[in-house]
Amino acid sequence: MQRRLKARRYPDPYISPIQGVRGPCALCRQYSQLTENHVPPEGVGNHDRWIARSYMTTVAASSEMYFGRHFPGGVRFRTLCRDCNSALGGSEDKALIDFYERVRRLLASPLKLPELVRVPAKPNLIIRGLLAHIASANDNGIPVPFDSEARRIFFKEQSLRMLSWNLFYWLYSGEQMFLMRSAFLANWRPAVELSEIYILKHFPLAFMFSRRPAFYGVPNMCKFVQQNDEAETDLPIFLNLRESHPVWPAVAERNQLIFLAGASYGVVARPD
Ligand SMILES: [Zn+2]
Repeated sequence: MQRRLKARRYPDPYISPIQGVRGPCALCRQYSQLTENHVPPEGVGNHDRWIARSYMTTVAASSEMYFGRHFPGGVRFRTLCRDCNSALGGSEDKALIDFYERVRRLLASPLKLPELVRVPAKPNLIIRGLLAHIASANDNGIPVPFDSEARRIFFKEQSLRMLSWNLFYWLYSGEQMFLMRSAFLANWRPAVELSEIYILKHFPLAFMFSRRPAFYGVPNMCKFVQQNDEAETDLPIFLNLRESHPVWPAVAERNQLIFLAGASYGVVARPD
């Protein structure tokens, strides 16, 4: 007699949420009652229901074996105290939401646009906000030096001009959301180069922090840092440089590999 094996499914081990509501805040480090922080902010379209898998199970495991992690009401992590959450939700989030809004309007325009357009935005606030969001986007994770630097920048203990990271951004037309922390991109040709990367992708924009000086010719927002945080400047957007791959550039391709380390963390979410 043949017994039918029933497939058993497991929670995705790499992105299981931590239970409990008290802990050290990801930004101020005070032990406190933690609140949920949307990453990216709700205002860019991170609301409604999402179902997520870890980067590891997305690229390397059978999806029949794992449950996704449900995020009703947006992808969010319970990692911030109330004060830090509302501070981040102020001018930093507003600057990022405005930038998204302007890029969305541009893409919806019926006019034929040139390949390079310029969009007014507040780069200081966008960079600071993205650093803080990515530093807090991990509820079971291991703190890394990126997080300490993000905190110093967030609390203005370090000048943005002294930031050791570059922030590359480009157009992303995929429907999945992707968040990755502390992965390592290896390229060779002419020489082997290993660089740590942090990625946040949500239609219509993708962002990547890296210490590389350049990345496929896409703009580096850190080159546009202003004297004054509220200052607006024109940020270039290359309409011809866009992609829709859910996890690019965290992929193996010609001359490129991706390495994960103990602190690496990746979430791939799709509308549920
Ligand atoms: Zn805090």
